Amino acid sequence: MAATLEHLKYYRLPWNYADNGISWLEPTTKCNLRCEGCYRDLNGPGHKTIEEVRADLEVFRRLRKSDCMSIAGGDPLVYPQILELVKMVKEMGWKPIVNTNGVALNETLLGDLKKAGVFGFTFHIDTSQKRPNAHATTEDELNETRLHYAEMLARVGGIACSFNSTVSEKTVHEIPSMVNWAQKHADIVHTMVFILYRSPTLTGDFNFYANGKKIDIGATYKETAWGGSRTLMAGDAVEKIREADSIYEPAAYLNGTAKPDSLKWLLASRIVLNGETMGYVSPNFMELVQTFTHLFTGTYLAYAKPKSIARGKLASFLGGMVDKKMRSIFVSILGRMFSNPLNLFRPAYLQSFMIIQPVNFEMDGRQDMCDSCPDITVHDGKLVWSCRLEEMNDHGVFLTSVPK
Ligand code: SF4
Repeated sequence: MAATLEHLKYYRLPWNYADNGISWLEPTTKCNLRCEGCYRDLNGPGHKTIEEVRADLEVFRRLRKSDCMSIAGGDPLVYPQILELVKMVKEMGWKPIVNTNGVALNETLLGDLKKAGVFGFTFHIDTSQKRPNAHATTEDELNETRLHYAEMLARVGGIACSFNSTVSEKTVHEIPSMVNWAQKHADIVHTMVFILYRSPTLTGDFNFYANGKKIDIGATYKETAWGGSRTLMAGDAVEKIREADSIYEPAAYLNGTAKPDSLKWLLASRIVLNGETMGYVSPNFMELVQTFTHLFTGTYLAYAKPKSIARGKLASFLGGMVDKKMRSIFVSILGRMFSNPLNLFRPAYLQSFMIIQPVNFEMDGRQDMCDSCPDITVHDGKLVWSCRLEEMNDHGVFLTSVPK
């Protein structure tokens, strides 16, 4: 049964349209994999020129602040000028985050990307992909592939490491294995993101219109058997995370544009010492981090340096001065240090979980999007939802849905 969550117990992230943690850049539609349920038409326009990419970045610079720039696609590592692009993003003031399936990444390219200024990677790895040389059929088996990339980054050092996995009705039961795996590797795995599969088959209750004209939604979004036939909600993923870690508790969220109580982005961070969860940070702690970061840097925080992530002891100590929940984490850490003095010298790591629920439909036809969408991109000089870019490409507008 899906967990019941009360959004008002959590901290509403202060991100908004003009001032956000994240922005989303797409230099290419080309990719070296084909994931089930991918939002993008990989036969689309292909690589943008570096001048076109710069023009997109100028649009962001004019319209929106953000901590980082997610460089996505397609797969950005097949973009021929990826090094120049990463350097440009850094020089223009954002943390460059490469969102990739990792297939094209090797130690040499990683070293070059580090020199160019890459801040972090988000690896998209899940069973919706047919990865070359990987015969994994379960998420559990894919943990080996995840570890390969986490270790590669750790060897170079100083690079944030996140993993994205799309989860569907058919794979949601595998979340516990990913949560347990992440706990074991909290020193090198900083964030796990579970993206709930958006199934076009579930739009059968609606007709879709572009500029007042009825259109065939199936021409824009393809159906896939991998996705199952049920829309997952954040509570489904929470229930599965709690199977692996019973004390899991979210701290912050973004609501929906149609429903204030839908949890479109749900963020939790745990502090892990010697492979054991000491507790989950409180909503107050999240608020302090966002507020102080914005005060001192001018942007809200989305990606932290690995060095800061290893300061779970300090975070619980400082947070504990003003918040009971953080104090209890600090007390647990002290307990572990008394029972095993080696823990005095071991860092405690902050590790985050994000659950993302893309568009879903209300019975009256309203489409519930992420209010204050972080993954907003540029289309034709304007900011648009990246998850629905294909609608702009195909029809020049976002589709409206009307109940049948
Ligand atoms: S609205 Fe779409 S693009 Fe924006 S964060 Fe949500 S899923 Fe991502």
